[in-house]
Amino acid sequence: MEMERSKAFFDRAKECMPGGVSSPVRAYRAVGGVPRFISMGDGAYIFDVDGNRYIDYVMSYGPLILGHLHPVIVGAIRVALTRGTSFGAPTDLEIELAELIKEAFPFVDLVRFVNSGTEATMSAVRLARAKTKRDYILKFEGCYHGHSDFFLVKAGSGGLTFNIPSSPGVPEGVTSYTLLAPYNDIEAVREIFKERGGEIAAVIVEPIAGNMGVIPPKEGFLEGLRELTESHGALLIFDEVITGFRIGFGGVSTTLNIEPDILTLGKIIGGGLPVGAFCGRREIMELLAPEGNVYQAGTLSGNPLAMSAGIAALKTLKAENPYPILKQRTEKLVGELRKIFGEKGIPAVLNVETAMFSIFFTEKERVENLEDVQSSDGKLYSRLFHALLEEGVMLAPSPYEAIFLSTAHDERVLDETITAFERAASKIG
Ligand code: PMP
Repeated sequence: MEMERSKAFFDRAKECMPGGVSSPVRAYRAVGGVPRFISMGDGAYIFDVDGNRYIDYVMSYGPLILGHLHPVIVGAIRVALTRGTSFGAPTDLEIELAELIKEAFPFVDLVRFVNSGTEATMSAVRLARAKTKRDYILKFEGCYHGHSDFFLVKAGSGGLTFNIPSSPGVPEGVTSYTLLAPYNDIEAVREIFKERGGEIAAVIVEPIAGNMGVIPPKEGFLEGLRELTESHGALLIFDEVITGFRIGFGGVSTTLNIEPDILTLGKIIGGGLPVGAFCGRREIMELLAPEGNVYQAGTLSGNPLAMSAGIAALKTLKAENPYPILKQRTEKLVGELRKIFGEKGIPAVLNVETAMFSIFFTEKERVENLEDVQSSDGKLYSRLFHALLEEGVMLAPSPYEAIFLSTAHDERVLDETITAFERAASKIG
């Protein structure tokens, strides 16, 4: 496989950017080898600078549920471009995107736009602390909520990939307000609330975990969180940066009918451009400046190009309702992959949700929390990753990132993927 140009770019990049990248997972440290520098994407495919074509299962880590270069999104950005790229003043585009979000999440009254998931969760916690006048937050091991200081405790995603459970540069005092519990363990949460219930501002959770691989919530887990937070006067924050508009036109909160106090969104709501949002009931959101005195702001927040891409994405998802077919295709692919690993005698657990799944190489029967995840064989994942690249399939360069499908991953693409996995599994088995 040609990778001369990627290699040359990587060498050059390392001279001007730490590790040669703008975000750590992209450097391939977890799997080894040369990161592919990308020249373009098209539908379910991505092309590197050496002219290699891959079926893309990273999909920009989630935003591209409609595939690369979706014509409606590209068209919307083109129109927006002719009007100007940034104003630092309100536009009607923000209203339209906020209204679409409200329609999908009926418990939301008000939406504040930001530029990333990190900003959304960081601001959501500030708001929760202001509302409750308490300082502690509770998060779950292996969940990732961006890279704000107080979240960098047993964080998923890059935190797991690089084994940086808490980062230098974060004062101890900051993380001392972050309480931790194992994912899916409502009894552990109950115990923490018994001790500290009156001091906890908020529980923040990925209602389907997606940053230690995909882990669905056990029955009663999210309901238990809702009940415990409510009875102790704490807020519940659902971080649906990944699951929002991925598992349905809405998210886990609307599918399971559990209303969080604050919801964070990102990825899909920007249609591939940088957007995040945090939202909730009026009485909470109104604490934000200029209505209230909780400060939060952003020069590029509500950017017209990003809003236009987001509106195009959500309108397309609403009109086409691709979710039943996305679910069916993801389940079909996972079913075939389970068969392949079974036939090759490779112990694997595959967790599946709509348009996202994970492969854990473990002897365990189920993977339900970080401890289970850490029983999986990372070296085997790396071998699979490279064998698949050779076969023209690109997974994320870390065993902890989810595998994402888009509407462009049609039956033909899935068949091509299954053949590639068959060949790759023979090489690693
Ligand atoms: N929350 C969740 C659930 C995420 O998956 C991510 C990013 N993967 C974030 C927050 C942070 O988003 P961003 O990378 O846009 O800052």
